[in-house]
Amino acid sequence: MNYHVLTLFPEMIEQGLNTSILGRAREKNLITLQTTNIRDFSTNKHLKVDDYPYGGGAGMVMQAEPVYKAYEHVKEQMGSEKPLRVIYLTPQGKVFTQELAEEFAKEENLVFLCGHYEGIDERVLDRIVTDHVSIGDYVLTGGELPSMVMMDAISRLVPGVLNNDVSAEIESFHDNLLEYPQYTRPEEFMGEKVPEVLLSGHHGNIDKWRREQSVIRTAQRRPDLLKGANLTDKEKRIARE
Ligand code: SAM
Repeated sequence: MNYHVLTLFPEMIEQGLNTSILGRAREKNLITLQTTNIRDFSTNKHLKVDDYPYGGGAGMVMQAEPVYKAYEHVKEQMGSEKPLRVIYLTPQGKVFTQELAEEFAKEENLVFLCGHYEGIDERVLDRIVTDHVSIGDYVLTGGELPSMVMMDAISRLVPGVLNNDVSAEIESFHDNLLEYPQYTRPEEFMGEKVPEVLLSGHHGNIDKWRREQSVIRTAQRRPDLLKGANLTDKEKRIARE
């Protein structure tokens, strides 16, 4: 998976994706990351890339030309014949979900465009953006954190990035259920013991218990997800209790 990020703050992205699992994935070239500073494509002698909004109003708007030139630079560098998937991070986009992460993980190249200030001139967005994506119904100062959130979620689905590929398959949102509760050593913490079944070594019972816990937890915390879950009649009863 190759990520290309168009941003005014490349150092934020570079630092953010340099540690732990993603850092190792980059070392192994399972994912690559290229950042392009939109400011490098400013046509202004003071390297300005924003201006006042037409029609008035608060804040500044990122200008179309530097963004378009930065995009053309990336496109040229990549030399890809296939049309590029260009994701604009915006609170006005489709909300990012695990399902969307799975869809994006199938691509070979992804370009992220990070806005700042009041956003980006609409005319360049119309020309280059294929997907408008939001990470939730709140407004952040820039698209850098949202792009990192997306790259993190997508990278976990790239084969080899997680040590154990199974772990991406059976966690929260798989089958529209939240994951069951997890425990590790010691067996007792502040008087509370780990559920007996997890110590039994009986994998059938452990799977059954975990599935039931997933249903209970989802019913308690995210009942909205259950509509899309594939539940047996018994599980539907458990969810209602
Ligand atoms: N004026 C814009 C509006 O009301 O829709 C908000 C601009 S926001 C302050 C600046 C930039 O942060 C946006 O261009 C976008 O790239 C990013 N951003 C803010 N909130 C976001 C969210 N929830 N999801 C994705 N990107 C977001």
